[in-house]
Amino acid sequence: MIVVMAEGATGAQIQEVQDRLAEVGYGAHLSRGEERTLVGAVGEAPPEKEAVMASLESLPFVERVIPVTKPYRLGLRAFRPEGTRFEVRGVPVGGDRLVVIAGPCSVETEGQIVGTATAVAGAGASLLRGGAFKPRTGPYSFQGLGREGLAMLERAREASGLAFITEVMDPRDVEVVAASADVLQIGARSMQNYTLLREVGRARVPVMLKRGLSATYDEWLQAAVYILAEGNDRLMLCERGIRTYETGTRNTLDLAAVPVLGELSHLPVIVDPSHGTGRTRYVPSMARAAVAAGAHGLMVEVHPDPTHAWTDGAQALSLDQFRGLMDELTPLAALCGRPVARAA
Ligand code: PEP
Ligand code: MN
Repeated sequence: MIVVMAEGATGAQIQEVQDRLAEVGYGAHLSRGEERTLVGAVGEAPPEKEAVMASLESLPFVERVIPVTKPYRLGLRAFRPEGTRFEVRGVPVGGDRLVVIAGPCSVETEGQIVGTATAVAGAGASLLRGGAFKPRTGPYSFQGLGREGLAMLERAREASGLAFITEVMDPRDVEVVAASADVLQIGARSMQNYTLLREVGRARVPVMLKRGLSATYDEWLQAAVYILAEGNDRLMLCERGIRTYETGTRNTLDLAAVPVLGELSHLPVIVDPSHGTGRTRYVPSMARAAVAAGAHGLMVEVHPDPTHAWTDGAQALSLDQFRGLMDELTPLAALCGRPVARAA
């Protein structure tokens, strides 16, 4: 951190800042300019003293305190310059293949999930998605089939050969979901549930961390570090749109997250154009844009009968629409240097 002293700060005031830094364990490095003096904090403070630095801004003779390092070293590109890569049952994530995750918003019946899984597998999807524990805005809305849904996903995996990702919302369910699923999904609403993040960090299953509804890149990456710090480095991020003033789409899909996070972090970035737009008809163009932007993967909602879907029918692709999308994406992904990953 750098403490920028106010113009005309006196020697005694500069000394006071140095003393306060020393109190919390920092060394001080002075740089005197024509008008201003900068005091660089050298070293590390214990976590409970970190806040002292920012609070120096309350002193009238301090103009600003500027952090120079990001508070998420484990997530930074420099920590693993070559990028994070791992496999989900033989499907490569984070490398030179595009991972296409497809399936319904919610698991509804065995026929629905098995039918969707075999159809999306036939169309070339890499992984299956399906929610068994659903985060719903309304407490009286359908909340998902829970464990019964997990069992149906297992049968869909068997029938289709696709490994599956499913959301876990409660730290108490992590063990059960991790014993069944191939990837644990942390939903947007749970991005800052730190107890849950720690728990999935201890699970021996890969994780996908969705971006919070109004999370900045910094907040998102700090959430990621909760998982990494517990020892789980099979982690990918998912941009799913953020809340803005725009009402023409369900969320505003922030595709700039793809290059920005690619620079900031070593974690693979997946894009979810379904929640990102909320409308079936906008999904294909944003899926193509995500691939062109360099995303490591896509997650799209697909339903055999969207108008009768129990959740998120308005943004689901039908099976035919998904086949059409795969026909478009296959050459595009190859052209962009990241051909679609095949299920193992
Ligand atoms: C989902 O992908 O099933 C979901 C609930 O999305 P989000 O957490 O991004 O709203
Ligand atoms: Mn959904």
